[in-house]
Amino acid sequence: MWTYDDSRAALRDALRLSRAMTYKSAVAGNPLGGGKGVIVLPADTRPLTPRTRNDLLLDFAETVDALRGRYITAEDVGTSAKDMTVIASATKHVRGLSRRRGGSGDPSPYTALGVQAAIAAGCERTFGSASLRGRTVCITGLGHVGMRLALGLLRAGAKVVAGDIDKGKRAELEAAGGRWIAPGRGLGLAADVFAPCALGGILTPESVAELQAPVVAGAANNQLADDAVAEDLRRRGVLWAPDFVANAGGIINIAVEFDRGGYDPARARKRVRGIGDTMREIFDHADAAKATPLAAAMALAQRRLDAAA
Ligand code: NAD
Repeated sequence: MWTYDDSRAALRDALRLSRAMTYKSAVAGNPLGGGKGVIVLPADTRPLTPRTRNDLLLDFAETVDALRGRYITAEDVGTSAKDMTVIASATKHVRGLSRRRGGSGDPSPYTALGVQAAIAAGCERTFGSASLRGRTVCITGLGHVGMRLALGLLRAGAKVVAGDIDKGKRAELEAAGGRWIAPGRGLGLAADVFAPCALGGILTPESVAELQAPVVAGAANNQLADDAVAEDLRRRGVLWAPDFVANAGGIINIAVEFDRGGYDPARARKRVRGIGDTMREIFDHADAAKATPLAAAMALAQRRLDAAA
């Protein structure tokens, strides 16, 4: 659920996001295609009343239901687990419901786990060891995923420096042993790994020139301002873990709901940790072809889509 200037902008976003979901699921080995539903709010929308929000969600649920399972919806930006419960009252084609309701629950811890596996794979390639002990990781964005990632990295013995535009995140980070920085400082900080966990578009030709960390792996979607930035990163000797591979933990967790035996968190965790091996495979292919990890990841996705077709 997001605000857009007009319906064409919303359609463009839905197509861009659904393409990314297709690649994400293909690389993750999920038995799913890719799709994205967008609930369009006009740019001048005032905060929604609970009743209007409910009506919008039910309209969306009817649309999803009409597709009879060819599209299955789940929580994303602008919606919550509670919203999914409203949608579930009008269609069964919704996943990611709470654990209490038999679903896989909040995807964020699994996304964070997958990003940590991607960081370890990037460290192994760059520094010769996947151990995170003593590594410095700089995180921007301490939201649902970023904060959990910070806590997981600290538990693994890494040093975490992190910032968020919301200063309210500082106390929790420092209590866990992390160091707070101003949110804009992350890119230029000397660290082993830079982990973008806020919004997309953070990697531009200019910001890549400023970047100090030799490894970039984070949760944010669409980190590259455009695909050509992948080549800028390679030229600077920065190893970039493609975002749609690194942040697939949430969708992998949801896909476990489709297993014959139903959802099982232990199986989900095991599968999400597999992101590390997928990342190694992508880095190998990129090295062999002297290509960027982005090109290698997209080629892997395409091979899997061709095989499925
Ligand atoms: P969130 O909204 O919970 O957290 C984002 C955090 O970034 C917030 O704390 C916000 O204050 C902060 N932020 C925003 N702009 C910032 C800036 N300029 N500098 C520093 N901090 C800034 O979102 P999330 O669920 O943690 O997701 C983070 C990113 O990961 C998003 O791009 C999301 O699309 C992507 N992602 C999330 C999941 C998931 O399971 N939640 C899965 C895949 C991808």
